[in-house]
Amino acid sequence: MNRLLADAFIQDLRTWAATRDESALARALRSPCSGVPHDVAAAYATVATRVGPLLDAIGRERLALPAEARDAVMRFARRVASVEPESDVVGLFELHVGDAPPEPTADAPFELARAVTPDERSGVRSRQTHFSASALNAYAECARKWFYRYVCSAVEDPGSSASTYGTAFHAALEDFHAEFPHPEASQEREMRMRLEGDVNRAFERYRGEFDTAVEVELQRRRAQRTAVRYVDWLVAEARRAPFTVIGREIPANLDLDGFAFIGFIDRLDRDDRTGAVSIFDYKTGSIAANAAEYRDKVREFRDFQLPFYYWARTAQGDRVTRLALIPLKDALLDVQPVSLEVVAVAAPERLRADAANGTIAVADLERARARMIEICRDLTSGALQQFPVAKDPAACTYCAYKRACVDKPHDEREKFGR
Ligand code: SF4
Repeated sequence: MNRLLADAFIQDLRTWAATRDESALARALRSPCSGVPHDVAAAYATVATRVGPLLDAIGRERLALPAEARDAVMRFARRVASVEPESDVVGLFELHVGDAPPEPTADAPFELARAVTPDERSGVRSRQTHFSASALNAYAECARKWFYRYVCSAVEDPGSSASTYGTAFHAALEDFHAEFPHPEASQEREMRMRLEGDVNRAFERYRGEFDTAVEVELQRRRAQRTAVRYVDWLVAEARRAPFTVIGREIPANLDLDGFAFIGFIDRLDRDDRTGAVSIFDYKTGSIAANAAEYRDKVREFRDFQLPFYYWARTAQGDRVTRLALIPLKDALLDVQPVSLEVVAVAAPERLRADAANGTIAVADLERARARMIEICRDLTSGALQQFPVAKDPAACTYCAYKRACVDKPHDEREKFGR
């Protein structure tokens, strides 16, 4: 075991034991020293940001895992539970740690290490035992980004106030619909008050993840304004077609031709009259501007999120008839979901190409599923030797690897920004 990795792992666990700092515990879980497969560790770290403390999420088995991965996670949780600030972490986790490199001194001549023979060139094989739609989306957007993030785990993405806004808003809506699973127009006032409180509580819970107190306040107010519009939309929907929220942040597990996929569905509704199921994904970042644009992204294999949820719920026996993105980014705009009705044969392109509602054929979703399997085969084949960079510089805007990525496409917009 690499000494530096082990030292960081020990330090993170001791920090957690002393302060109960969840981010230190999440880092420790993702360390190779934890004994937990990297993708499982990353999935649990993500779950914990949504549903609460990491050890609780593990204890409740929020992820359905194969026996071996489950045992590794449980073993990690058991060991962590007994860690104290002065514990012998090396012994507890049975780490085989090499010697620390000697400290260089100012006057001692240093010796160059002997050159080693380069490894024979070979392809890269994904180490993932579980896939996610977001990993495939990353690959579709930029293969190089996928390589950096999922193969090298090169840098920790520190997140941003925009991503914390999303996490907090998701948490507020999850709490809100626990209280209001069956929104009714007659409860409008209560719903507004409840959601206001849930937003305040969620932003308080995630206060530490923002950089400054001003940032917390600005983002909280933005969420409050958006929450008002969210309730407007709920009331209109409840009047149009009564529904029940039957799932919030529910795990979606799916086996696609031997490739295990995991993810979480933000919201699942059942139409009270027809029993048909709608899948909703809350979006606090930019999304397709209309249904036709989103359908094109699915057809062109640039977005696998909702197709994956569709197949996961269909495998559970649901009759899924609607897939929708709920935009929660812009507090100045009404909440108007981008919605695709699942049909046997998709309607021809609408006259109004900017319509928020459209259709998607089951055949399109089948093609997306086949492409997901194909990508997994490529990623696990060991044959991939090249990971081309994105063609569209927009992909690089929020990329955590932007500074290191020498081949990234040139962005004309930056010409005058230097
Ligand atoms: S900076 Fe751009 S090209 Fe480079 S990895 Fe990120 S998204 Fe891909």
